[in-house]
Amino acid sequence: MNQWMERAVELALQNIAQGGQPFGAVLVKGEEIIGEGVNELHLRPDSTGHAELLALRRAQEKLGSIDLRGTVMYASGAPCPMCFGAMAMAGVDKAYYANSLADAMAVGLSRSSEVYADLQKINEERVFRMIHMPVEDIAKSPMHVWHSKT
Ligand SMILES: [Zn+2]
Repeated sequence: MNQWMERAVELALQNIAQGGQPFGAVLVKGEEIIGEGVNELHLRPDSTGHAELLALRRAQEKLGSIDLRGTVMYASGAPCPMCFGAMAMAGVDKAYYANSLADAMAVGLSRSSEVYADLQKINEERVFRMIHMPVEDIAKSPMHVWHSKT
């Protein structure tokens, strides 16, 4: 572990002591932490309250930009599919993790593994389905309207 992962693990251990789940994360740019977070699911009913997502939000607020290219995430636990997507969409360079998905499964935190497995399937075979329902009037299609304005 390096100093950044040590900080992520420390945050996770603090979160456990406060009644939360074992997840902490820090986002680093250069030699500076620009965002930190812990899993906050025990604090409020918000399923997006994951350590990595909160670290991303704080970093984007700090930088005043959604572009996080040139940053590296250190997460105490392997990121879930939601956080994977958020990091990829924001351009985070890479993520290191300490506890693996197998470690999470072993202690009853299996949701990430279930969703990653679902994503490996073709859409029609997934537990969670996304179904195309196109806008019939193209003049009312948000993509068309947006493209027409730009
Ligand atoms: Zn997550």
